[in-house]
Amino acid sequence: MGEPAYRAGQVMKWIWGQGIGDFDLMTNITKNLRAKLNNDFQVLWPLVKQAETSVDGTTKFLLRLADGRVIESVIIPAGDHYTQCLSTQVGCPMGCVFCSTGKMGFERNLTSGEISSQIIAARHYLIGKNDPLPVSNLVFMGMGEPLLNWTQVKKALEIIRAADALNFSRRKVTLSTVGVRDKLTEFGDSKLALTAVSLHAPEQSLRKRLMPAAAVYELDELIACLENLPLAPRERITIEYVMLKGINDSLSHARDMVRILSRVKCKINLIKYNPGHEPGFESSDHETIGAFQDFLRSRGFTVMLRKSMGADIDAACGQLKARYADN
Ligand code: SAH
Ligand code: SF4
Repeated sequence: MGEPAYRAGQVMKWIWGQGIGDFDLMTNITKNLRAKLNNDFQVLWPLVKQAETSVDGTTKFLLRLADGRVIESVIIPAGDHYTQCLSTQVGCPMGCVFCSTGKMGFERNLTSGEISSQIIAARHYLIGKNDPLPVSNLVFMGMGEPLLNWTQVKKALEIIRAADALNFSRRKVTLSTVGVRDKLTEFGDSKLALTAVSLHAPEQSLRKRLMPAAAVYELDELIACLENLPLAPRERITIEYVMLKGINDSLSHARDMVRILSRVKCKINLIKYNPGHEPGFESSDHETIGAFQDFLRSRGFTVMLRKSMGADIDAACGQLKARYADN
């Protein structure tokens, strides 16, 4: 627009740093430029269409985008902060059989602005509630497969990380993926966020049954990619493993995990399945999860059990939107 470059930084700070989208409130910008901006641009935040808070403090948002489509985002209290779960697509084409988002199919990719402005929507909501707890950790674990939308997700990560914009450090941001050929390497090389991988099965045939996308990006290839991902000195890849009763939770599965992960620098995150309304799947019981965890620990792995938060508000990936669509 023929303006000096530092003006862009100023606008960036207002929009992403302050969450202010009204150009007239950007007081350090000349009247003339504000008029030009008003003429050419409009800042459209996602609208909170519905917010439901669980007894455990987790709040799930249904957000309406400018074209009327609806996505979910969740904020989860964790001590002195919230961790926010971001969506990257409306729906998801990967079709994992236990996942509500997978069941609803794919509508479209989100833009980088739609991805990063979920954070502003949550911050605006918390200000309205006089809730001082900051949103200081992010996980790309909402609706969608982030690496199928890598161009926009990369831009969003740049906005999230930039000092002029949302200013999150790398270790506060984790991207979760089922694994997509070439994109996983590009993401790893970008060093923009930490890596989490949805494994869910330690052998190809079971993994393919649960996650059809594994047919095109096979387990061997995925593991080889993880072995070569560039990591900071003490960094670990998070391996996510959702515990499905009678399906992937035996000690023989745990033994296979030990074998395939022997050369991957990782920590393992066991996830209690949030059954929602998906028929045919249940979470493994407490004892089974304990035995699985103990076995992996006895072989030297760091293993954490991720609590299921917000079960009373359909907080797992896609569940609230699925209920909304039903209604
Ligand atoms: N598409 C990416 C990120 C979004 S899903 C991925 O699959 O990794 C984030 C995590 O939630 C994944 O590990 C996914 O398998 C898991 N998940 C999906 N539905 C779930 C449910 N009902 N209960 C527990 N975890 C679930
Ligand atoms: Fe998509 Fe992830 Fe759900 Fe699979 S688990 S369908 S990749 S959102």
